[in-house]
Amino acid sequence: MATLFISDLHLDPSRPSITALFEHYLGSEEVRQADALYILGDLVEAWIGDDDDAELPQRIAAATRAVNDAGVPVYFMAGNRDFLLGPAFAERAGMRLLDDGTVHEIQGRPTLLMHGDVLCTDDLAYQAVRQQVRQPQWQAQILAMPLDARRALAARAREDSKAHTGSTMESIMDVHADAVAAAMRHAGVTRLIHGHTHRPAVHDFELDGAPAQRIVLGDWYEQGSVLSVTPHGASLRGLAV
Ligand code: MN
Repeated sequence: MATLFISDLHLDPSRPSITALFEHYLGSEEVRQADALYILGDLVEAWIGDDDDAELPQRIAAATRAVNDAGVPVYFMAGNRDFLLGPAFAERAGMRLLDDGTVHEIQGRPTLLMHGDVLCTDDLAYQAVRQQVRQPQWQAQILAMPLDARRALAARAREDSKAHTGSTMESIMDVHADAVAAAMRHAGVTRLIHGHTHRPAVHDFELDGAPAQRIVLGDWYEQGSVLSVTPHGASLRGLAV
């Protein structure tokens, strides 16, 4: 059996083929026979609240609920695009919410699970924004706005993010090795799985003299990307649209 991980799908009405791929994959034998499915953040391009009545959230909820109903637990950890996703939607979608930085035993090995954005410690501008938008008062204020106003705000945030990504050096937007080591040491693990950077890879390295592994999930912009962990190891692969 396998434990499956996906992240950074950035589902959006502008990319219907990726939404269709997500639905198709969640209906596949691989998923329906998995030990668990983990979604480590940025499932959607923008999340404006669990009360969003658009089509996309309904389709996502139907897809994840069917996996849960088939007996496969679905875990969701928020990313920097969907941090407003809350218990009401999780309930409808049959998803169990996870805090960033949770340690789960994955196929017998304690594994630190993160979205990955907190590891990008060189990006000071982003870290300041993150601190603001994760405050409960700020979130409550946003969620109290009418849906249309929140949609407009999300569109603007997306433009700001594009401008920031375009003007920030590649190295700054990757994880910092010291932050990775500190997080793994703090959690007491030798394996970390995260997304966010859109740089899919399995990194084997030494942490305090012991073999350690950092696995980075890929994004779903052009194709799908899945990590499958079995007792025999971890494998990353793409999914054709
Ligand atoms: Mn992200």
